[in-house]
Amino acid sequence: MDLVLSRINEQSMACWQNKWSSGNLGRLCYSIVPEIDDRPWFAGLRGLLSRREIVLGGRIMSNHYGLNAHLNRIGITYTAMCPECNEYLNIDHVLFRCPANAAGRHELVSSCFELTGSRDICALAVERKRNSSFRAIEKFCRTNNVRF
Ligand SMILES: [Zn+2]
Repeated sequence: MDLVLSRINEQSMACWQNKWSSGNLGRLCYSIVPEIDDRPWFAGLRGLLSRREIVLGGRIMSNHYGLNAHLNRIGITYTAMCPECNEYLNIDHVLFRCPANAAGRHELVSSCFELTGSRDICALAVERKRNSSFRAIEKFCRTNNVRF
């Protein structure tokens, strides 16, 4: 019986991996976590991240957050643009470009070294088990009252 269950599990994981590799949705997350795993993405960071940082990372990687880019995509807001500067209002805009959220940006950028995108920050945290990136993003968002 264990052999049968093991084969079913193997085939199920292979099917899942195939769909994940060839799908159209979740490509940002796929670029960070291309290999499926039955453990959560933060398994290697357990104990290093707070619950708030885990939620923040999950929302960034899934591209599901309370900013106009996502809210417009799901039909909640009429525009995907930033009301302050009329640029596409996604997380990268908030973290790296919007003049309305400048407080603490220097500290965020310096703590993330040469990285200029949330994808790179998430990938670095997941691949190298580096929690300081999520901590810096969480602090920046709290300082600028950015809500997810
Ligand atoms: Zn803006």
